[in-house]
This record gives sequence, structure tokens and C-alpha cells, in this order.
Amino acid sequence: MKLFIDGSWSDSSSGSTIEKLSPVTGAKMYDFPAATKEDVNRAIDAAYNSWEKWYSMGSVNRSRVIYKAKALIEKSRKQLEDILVKENGKIRPEAIGEVDGVIDQLQYYAEFARKITGDVVEGENGNRKILQYKVPYGVVVAITPWNFPAAMVARKMAPALMTGNSVVVKPSSDTPGSAEFIVKMFIKAGVPKGVVNLVTGKGSEIGDYIISHKHVSLVSMTGSTSTGQRIMEKASSNMSKLILELGGKAPFMVWEDADLATALKVFMWAKYSNTGQSCIAAERLYVHEKVFDKFMKMVVEASKRLSIGNPEKAGMGPLINKAALDNIAKYVSEAEEEGGKVITGGGKPKLAGTLKSGYFYQPTIVTGVGQKSKLFQEEIFGPVIGAAKVSSVEDMFEKANDSKYGLASYLFTKDLSLANRAAEAIRFGELYINMPGPEASQGYHTGFRMTGQAGEGSKYGIAEYLKLKNVYLEY
Ligand code: NAP
Repeated sequence: MKLFIDGSWSDSSSGSTIEKLSPVTGAKMYDFPAATKEDVNRAIDAAYNSWEKWYSMGSVNRSRVIYKAKALIEKSRKQLEDILVKENGKIRPEAIGEVDGVIDQLQYYAEFARKITGDVVEGENGNRKILQYKVPYGVVVAITPWNFPAAMVARKMAPALMTGNSVVVKPSSDTPGSAEFIVKMFIKAGVPKGVVNLVTGKGSEIGDYIISHKHVSLVSMTGSTSTGQRIMEKASSNMSKLILELGGKAPFMVWEDADLATALKVFMWAKYSNTGQSCIAAERLYVHEKVFDKFMKMVVEASKRLSIGNPEKAGMGPLINKAALDNIAKYVSEAEEEGGKVITGGGKPKLAGTLKSGYFYQPTIVTGVGQKSKLFQEEIFGPVIGAAKVSSVEDMFEKANDSKYGLASYLFTKDLSLANRAAEAIRFGELYINMPGPEASQGYHTGFRMTGQAGEGSKYGIAEYLKLKNVYLEY
């Protein structure tokens, strides 16, 4: 694997590399370059020197490159699916689903080719007009996480490029391979030299330097809230615009009248897909006291049935790395120390062969801990959840809103009036009523509180990549 800067592939200028380990077996997979400040400078300069020309090609021509990249990904999608299974440990159907998402993102944003408009506003007098242009920011830095390593790259590159910006992609050090694949497809699709650049390396080492570079105008980052806060601090040095898609702690609410079979089906997806490592994952289970025992029995039985192991065959794969595995185990043991009861799971599964050293953990449910417990307050990001009874609508809404995060939330009820009350009362960017996620390209994926700022998807999401400028005209 190499860096891609100003139209060519290279090693890090220092020759340094980082090891990538397999989440499935813990064995080394490959080395990738640890970019230096010099490499970062070259990438940002290349993006800075190329964006105006790219913008001046016009939106229809830019969309042709995106459509071409999409067609190329469709043609060789199996390769990207394989990368996702290997470097992330995604089970095969989820890798297929993520590649579908990549294709959908590229299609959706390319469709804006003829929809980027400004406004003409009347001035103070009849011979005056105010022309409001929507123009690119210039250099966009796209910083992506490992949990949806291909979809997040596509969701940032496509709107940035569609609107005439150039891009420097800095993928997660846990999953640089998916980003490399997508960048390759854009190169093959004919994106001009300098418009797309790929820089790999530890965020903790090169991140500050990238963010505070004087030629960066917009940082679009998806990741943890703590990294988002750091980026916000550093971005103050050049007043860059920020799109920050950060942590989540989704409440999963089951009311007494819910169709429990539907709620169970969605729960199994919302909790265990991607091994619980999703920003919209169910992280807190609130069930009406009248159906609590019945629903918990259903959930425990289904969790026990979930097969864990080789992502090619199992129903759930590993966590991304050892740190994530240790973190999950710590949350569970702390909950037990607080008096929590593990009603299913609570440890590593027994696996054979090379899987023994993979980062697997059982589907785990804990009851008996209070709302102030870490299990209900911190983002767990794994196949573990705390469950609690609720007794009234007010109680349920209060508990659900009691979180520093505000991304996704779920509600199961047949009561239309309750659904409407929730739509008003729940302070989250997304509320899924009687249905699963994930977010659609035409929805605006955004969060309240510490989940970040701005958003992605829909006409609002593409607008984030455009700056409004005014021309006052007298004639
Ligand atoms: P992370 O540790 O914050 O890393 C995210 C990205 O930031 C990585 O590319 C990382 O690089 C980089 N980074 C780290 N320190 C940096 C710095 N000082 N300056 C600039 N960049 C820096 O998050 P993660 O563990 O990859 O992802 C999981 C998190 O993402 C969860 O909290 C999840 O909820 C969130 N997420 C949110 C959404 C959403 O839409 N709201 C979607 C998906 C995931 P390295 O890998 O090299 O450290």
C-alpha cells in the first residue's frame, strides 16, 4: 500500500510504515505508509493547486467522473467486499451491504449535477440585484473511521467532488485498504491530477498538522467525540468549516403495545450488526415493565442463537482490535461490580484454530444497573447492552434523552399518538419508529449534543460543501 499524492503513488518520505493486524486472527496483514509532514504538505498543496480547475470543468463533467467511479466499483465490487471482510472483520452480507451503500452514495451525489443552484435576490432599488453564488470551499480534508471504512469515504468524497472541491483523504489506521480501493477507482475514472489525494498515518501524529494547515478550508470527519473535539480546537487556527459526525448512544424503546416480533428483529440488527460497532447501534434498551420479562426472554434466546466466528459464515464477526475487545470486557466487569446481572454472554466465545486469537466477544445483555451507570452513559461500541424497565411515557422519554450523545433512537409502538409525541420529544437527529436503519442518502444524517455538528446526506448535506457568496450588482 502507498500514499497517493499529486497524481502519483509513493512511500512515506521517511520510509516509515504501520502494521495492520487482522481482527479475525490477530495476525499481521500488511504494512502501510506513515505519512510525514512533508507528505501532508505535498498532498494539501496538490489539492490547493487543482481545485479551481476541477471546479471550472462544471458540475455535469464532474458528475461524469463520479458516475464512472461508481460503474468501476460496481464492476469490481467483490474486491471491495473482500477487503471489508478481511480488514474490518465484517460478515459477508454486511460487507455486501456496505458496498451497496458506497454505490448508492456515488449515485445520489452525482445526481446533483444539474441541481446546484444559487439565488438572485432583489436589491434595495429596482436597478439592484444580489447574486448569491454557491461555491466550493477549496481543499476538503476527509477523515474517516474504521467501522464503515468504505461508505464513509464515499459519503465524503462524492459530495466534496460534486461541488467542485478537491480532497485529501485520511482514513482510519485500522482500515486504510478500503480507502485505497475507492481512490484507485476515482483515478481510473479520470479524476484530474491533484484533485484526490490519499494520506495514511496515525491521526495522533499527523492529525493536528493536517487540520491546522493554512490551505485547508473544510474538514469533514467521522469518528469519536474526543477526536472531534481535538479537531475543533485545531481548526480554530484557520477557521475551517467543520462537518463532525461523532459518537452515539441510541436508546431502543419498546412500548407495551409494540409488535414484539418486529422489535426483536430490529433489535438483533440494531445491536449486533457490525458487531455493535455502529454509530446508530442500539446502546440502551428501555422496555415497558408490562412486557419486559417477555421481551427479554425473546432477546436472550435470539442472542444465544447468534453464531460468532469466521466472517464468511458466522452471524457476527470480531471487534476491530484488541483495545476495543479489552474496553468492552471492562464495561461488563464494571457493570457487574455495580451489581449488574449478565443475563446472556459476558465473555469471549470458545473458538477453534486461528480464530482463538481474534477479537471476538459474545452478545451480552446486562440488567440491574442504574441510568447513571457507564453502561447507560458511555458509548460501548460492541455487542453489549444494558436493559432497564420503564413505567410511563415520561419516564421513557426522560431516560432516552438523558445522554450526552444524540444521533439515532428507536421506538416500537402501535400507538400513533405516542409516535407523534416521541417525534417531538426525542432530542436525537434520527428517530426510527417500528423500523430499522440505517440512514438513507436522501436523509440528513446529523446529531444533537456531543454527536457533533452539520450533517451528511440530502440537499442539506451537499449544501455543507458549498459556501454562499454574495455579489451586489447595480445596473
Ligand atoms: P476515532 O478514533 O476518533 O478516529 C476517527 C478518525 O480520526 C481516524 O481516521 C483517526 O486516525 C483520526 N484521528 C485520530 N486522532 C486525530 C487527530 N488528532 N486529528 C485528526 N484526525 C485524527 O474514531 P474511530 O474509532 O475510528 O471510529 C469510531 C467512532 O466513530 C465512534 O465513536 C462512532 O460512533 C463514530 N462514528 C460516527 C458516525 C456518525 O455518522 N455520527 C458514523 C460512524 C462512526 P487513526 O485511525 O490513525 O487514529
